[in-house]
Amino acid sequence: MRKTSISRWIIRPTQRAVHLTGALLLLAGWSVHGATPKAVFILVDGIPADLVESVSTPFFDEIAKDGGYARAYVGGQAGGASESPTVSAVGYNSLLTGTWANKHRVYSNQIRSPDYRYWDIFRLVKQHNPDLSTALFSTWEDNRTKLLGHSRPEAGGDKLDYYFDGFENDEQRFPHDEAREYIRQIDDLVSREAARYLAEHGPDLSWVYLEFTDDIGHLYGDGEEMAAAITLMDANVGRIWRSVQARQQAEDEDWLVVITTDHGRDAQTGKSHGGQSDRERTIWIATNSDALNEHFSNLPAIVDILPSLLTHLEVAVPQAVSEQFDGKSFIDARRPREPRP
Ligand SMILES: [Zn+2]
Repeated sequence: MRKTSISRWIIRPTQRAVHLTGALLLLAGWSVHGATPKAVFILVDGIPADLVESVSTPFFDEIAKDGGYARAYVGGQAGGASESPTVSAVGYNSLLTGTWANKHRVYSNQIRSPDYRYWDIFRLVKQHNPDLSTALFSTWEDNRTKLLGHSRPEAGGDKLDYYFDGFENDEQRFPHDEAREYIRQIDDLVSREAARYLAEHGPDLSWVYLEFTDDIGHLYGDGEEMAAAITLMDANVGRIWRSVQARQQAEDEDWLVVITTDHGRDAQTGKSHGGQSDRERTIWIATNSDALNEHFSNLPAIVDILPSLLTHLEVAVPQAVSEQFDGKSFIDARRPREPRP
């Protein structure tokens, strides 16, 4: 399933360059891959790699069977300037911007002053083509209001065509309980809505964020409660995966699915995270991509997901933004369609 070709991510500073690439392919006798590229990335919170590998996750396995699964890392360069806490919002923003915390400036879940000069993926997609459709489904509202800074002029204004979030602030509908049952219910609601919306509308780029596994990790650490929460998370993702499969059957669309987590957990109990131990820095990526290059199996990082999504979506990135990326694509540019027999 892996290609042996040289890893390459073509940075395309202008749309003209994209058109040129297409023209060159046509001149060379190729027809460009015709299906419309679509992408959804799903972040399931705080699942250590050793647990996702040992616990029953039939849907993750099914998705990775078409593409691949790899251990990866978060936390920047250990001991270097880009070293970043293995804390949730820090990791999310490294995924969203393709940069470490010394650039995006989110060092805690407080998200006091993100540096919006490091563009997030939705801003990049919209600057490339405002007609591309975007959606967010999230158990944590701050992802939209603070990290993405949706609607803020300094963060690129309106970037999301649809969002479904904020339920954790509705204590009438979801009374807060210490066992975090309300978060389990919100994850259920959010993943069902993501599955419905993707099936009906097929947005070009979507982010799904689900939280319950991290809460259970903090409460119980490693053990049967965490294992059950991971299997439940797998089922949440599974309903989104079924929608993607239905779209691929019914429409001329080429879907990329990327699933990841934002940090591991401490080795002693599994209850905490934030430090620089191997288990806290180790994450994982599962994807259905059939265009993985060798970087995928050579310890990719969370910052590699953004360039990979952009490669699949064929989004041109302003050079001033792309030259700040700390990651590189683990996916090759989409291949020309096979000649018809
Ligand atoms: Zn987290």
